[in-house]
Amino acid sequence: MAPEPGRRERLLAALSRTREDLAAACAAAGREPGSVRLIVVTKNFPASDARILIEAGQADLGENRDQEAAAKAAALAEDGLEPTWHFVGRLQRNKARSVAEYADWIHSVDRARLVDALDRAAEARGREVGALLQVSLDGDVSRGGVPVPELTALAERVAASASLRLRGVMAVAPLDWEPLKAFELLAECSQAVRGVDAAATEISAGMSGDFAEAIACGATMVRLGRNVLGERESMT
Ligand SMILES: *Cc1c(COP(=O)(O)O)cnc(C)c1O
Repeated sequence: MAPEPGRRERLLAALSRTREDLAAACAAAGREPGSVRLIVVTKNFPASDARILIEAGQADLGENRDQEAAAKAAALAEDGLEPTWHFVGRLQRNKARSVAEYADWIHSVDRARLVDALDRAAEARGREVGALLQVSLDGDVSRGGVPVPELTALAERVAASASLRLRGVMAVAPLDWEPLKAFELLAECSQAVRGVDAAATEISAGMSGDFAEAIACGATMVRLGRNVLGERESMT
């Protein structure tokens, strides 16, 4: 499907504005702009938008639902477009095989049984998948994430797996928390995980509304949707 007229120009303008905003947040935090990776979350937007972004040099894209992500990844791959895919949504074990097919990173690893299912699926495909442990900062696991007291054990499980690479931590700031409080706690969680594997240095934190706070607290990956693509229909 062809994008609507003017879509390319609008997306490219929003992308460069967003990159400038990230650079400003890095400068404010005394960090190098190259130390934060931008992941554009394309959920609820068509493959044609993802294509525009990839062609503009945006290498990292995120999705939060397997069905939509698998279709988008396949459509783009047919045209030889293979961005780095980050799966950032809640994940059921029965989707592990599908996700392990296209995802390069999974940001939502949050329980032992999911670790085992993903490991088997990745191994069967001869792939290595980067794993970030999603932390439930407020302990409300209904929204996904491992409770803080169980984080180290889960990290050890990933570290012992055959085909998942322990890369770090991820969180979404709880709705009623100050973002700084959330991301400071996540930075402590990151230290705990680095105690299991010193190379697991990635911190995936920050969405369109709170990326500056996340960057101030050491985020190495920010996941932005609306800032680049515009408001979504309220499907999620
Ligand atoms: C949708 C989503 C994002 C992006 O959110 P925006 O508010 O659109 O920037 C980031 N992380 C996760 C886990 C998401 O589901």
